[in-house]
Amino acid sequence: MEKTKTDSLIERDQSNVWHHISPYVEENPAMIAVKGEGSWIIDYDGNRYLDGMSGLWCVNIGYGREELAKAAYEQMKELCYMPLTQSHIPAIKLAEKINEWLEGEYMIFYSNSGSDANEVAFKLIRQYHQQNGEHGRFKFISRHRAYHGSSMGALSATGQALRKYKYEPLASGFLHISPPDSYRRPDNMSIETFHSMLMEELERKIIWEQKETIAGVIMEPLITGGGVLIPHPSYLEKVQELCKKYGILLIMDEVICGFGRTGKKFGHQHFNIKPDIVTMAKGLTSAYLPLSVTAVKKEIFEKFKGTEENVHFRHINTFGGNPSSCAVALKNLEILEKENLVEKSAQSGIYLLEHLKNGLHSHPNVGDIRGLGLVLGIELVEDKFTKVPVSSKYMAKIVAECKKEGLIIGKNGDTVDGYNNILTLSPPLSSTEDDLNFIISVLMKVLQNNQSTQK
Ligand code: PLP
Repeated sequence: MEKTKTDSLIERDQSNVWHHISPYVEENPAMIAVKGEGSWIIDYDGNRYLDGMSGLWCVNIGYGREELAKAAYEQMKELCYMPLTQSHIPAIKLAEKINEWLEGEYMIFYSNSGSDANEVAFKLIRQYHQQNGEHGRFKFISRHRAYHGSSMGALSATGQALRKYKYEPLASGFLHISPPDSYRRPDNMSIETFHSMLMEELERKIIWEQKETIAGVIMEPLITGGGVLIPHPSYLEKVQELCKKYGILLIMDEVICGFGRTGKKFGHQHFNIKPDIVTMAKGLTSAYLPLSVTAVKKEIFEKFKGTEENVHFRHINTFGGNPSSCAVALKNLEILEKENLVEKSAQSGIYLLEHLKNGLHSHPNVGDIRGLGLVLGIELVEDKFTKVPVSSKYMAKIVAECKKEGLIIGKNGDTVDGYNNILTLSPPLSSTEDDLNFIISVLMKVLQNNQSTQK
C-alpha cells in the first residue's frame, strides 16, 4: 500500500524525536498535532480531539489566541532579550500584576519551568536560614504521591516512587509524609479525625528529624497529578501553624493550581493561609511560551539585600523572565480577567462534577469522583467495598477508547505501583458548555461500554 504523508511523518518522528515519559511502541505512534482552536486539537489527518487535559494542565485560556502571538511578536521586535541581572518593562509590569493576583507582598524571581521555580525555592530557603544563623536547617518535607518536577531537587521532593527509583541516589534532605487521601482513609474514620492524624504525622516528622534541621515544607494546595487529592478545608491552615511554630518556611507549589485552574486565582486562596513562597508556571502563560516564577515574601528577601560578600542569591538562568514570555503572560492574565475565566472555572468545575456524579455513581468501577474548579479525578476500582484499584491495562484502555471518541483525558501514571487508577480531567478554563457536555457524554459512553470484571 502507498504510504500517506502521515506515515512518513510518523517514521521521521519515531526515528528522531525522543518523547517525554511515553514508552516507545512502534505500533502505537504518537499523535502529530498541527493546530489548536479553543479546547480542540487537530492532528495531521484532520481528526479533532477535545483536549480534556489542556496539554499538561496548562493551556488555561485555550488554543489559538492571536492576541498572545501578537504580544510575543511586538515584544520580540522591540527588545528580544535582556538578562535579569538588569531589568525590562514586561518583567516589572508582570511582577506587579502577579502581586495583585497573590494579594500579597512578594518579590518575583523568574525562571523557565515549574521544576526551575521549585529548585529556586529550595536553594534560597537554605541560604535564608544560613543567613539567619540557622546553619543546620536544610531538610524539606513533602508528601508521597505529590509531583514537584523532574530536576534532581524537584524530583527528590516528588513523592512518586516510579518516577524516581531508577535515578537514585537523589538529593539528600528530602522527607515525605502521607498524602490527604480522604477516599482511602481508614474505614469509619471521619475526615476531621483523618486530617488530625495527618497533622500529627507532620509534627512527629519534624520532631523526630530534629526540629532545627527542617528548612521548608512544600505542598500543592491539592495534589493534582498524583491523583486529585483534595484536603479538608482546615488542613493547610494547620500545616501553616506547624511551620510557624517550628520556624519552617512554607512553599505552595501552584504550578498547576495557579491562574484559575481550581476556581480561585491561586489554589491556596481556598484556604486561610499566606504562604512564604509561591511557585508557579504552566497557566502563567497558558503555555504559549515558557515562563515560571518563584514568588518570595518581601520580608524573606530582606535577608538577601546589601553588598556584603555572598549575601545575594547566587542563582541565574539565561532565559528566565524572557521579555516576550513576560509580555505573553501579561496578555494571558488580561484575557483571564476580561473573560472572567477564574469564575468560569469554578462554575464549569461544579457543572462537570455534578453531571459526572449523577451519570456515573452507579457504575461498578467508579469508586470516587472529586474535583475543585477544573481539576477533576475519577478513581476506578475493581470493587467499591474493597477499593482494590483497577489495573494499569484497564486504565490505558479507557484513555485509548476516549481518544478514539475524540476526547483526550489523563491518568495519574507513574505514581506508585498498583495505584495508578485515577482518571484526570483539566480542560481549558475557556471551555464552552458544548465542550463540557462532550466530555461528559464521551466519558459516560466509554465507561459504560467498558467495565472491569477482574474481581
Ligand atoms: N510542580 C507541579 C505541581 C507540577 O505538576 C509540575 C509539572 O507537571 C511541576 C512542578 C514541574 O513543572 P515543569 O514540568 O514545568 O518543570
